[in-house]
Amino acid sequence: MIPPCVFCRIAQRQIPAEIVAEDPEVLAFKDLNPQAPTHLLIIPKAHIATVADLTDATAPLLARATLMANRLAAQSGIAEGGYRLVINHGPQAGQSVGHIHLHLLGGRPMRWPPG
Ligand code: AMP
Ligand code: ZN
Repeated sequence: MIPPCVFCRIAQRQIPAEIVAEDPEVLAFKDLNPQAPTHLLIIPKAHIATVADLTDATAPLLARATLMANRLAAQSGIAEGGYRLVINHGPQAGQSVGHIHLHLLGGRPMRWPPG
C-alpha cells in the first residue's frame, strides 16, 4: 500500500530524499527548498500529523528527533555559531506537510521574531 503522506513515503523509501541520518525510529533528510545553508528535516518514521497530536507514548520520539538534530548540527559545523529548531503547527504557522517534522536551520544569522 502506498501511504498518502509524503514524509511516510520518504521514510519507506518510496520516493527519494537526501537522507543524512537514521536510527530505528527517526530519519533526517535535506529540505527540498532550503531556507538556510543547513536546512534539514528530522521526522519520526511513525506517522504523527502535528506536534499537537503527540501523546505520552509518542512524545519521546520528539526528544529523539531533537537529539539527532543536535548531533547533525555538530556534524554540520553550525553548533558553535548557533542554529534554530522549528516545528510549525497549523495553517497560520505555515505547516505544509501533515507529518510532524523538526526543521534544523543554521549557517546564517537569523532574525527574531520570525516572520
Ligand atoms: P512545513 O512548512 O513546516 O510543513 O515544512 C515542510 C517542509 O518540507 C518545507 O520546508 C518543504 O520544503 C519540505 N518538503 C516538502 N516536500 C519535501 C520532499 N519531498 N523532500 C524534502 N523536503 C520536502
Ligand atoms: Zn506520514
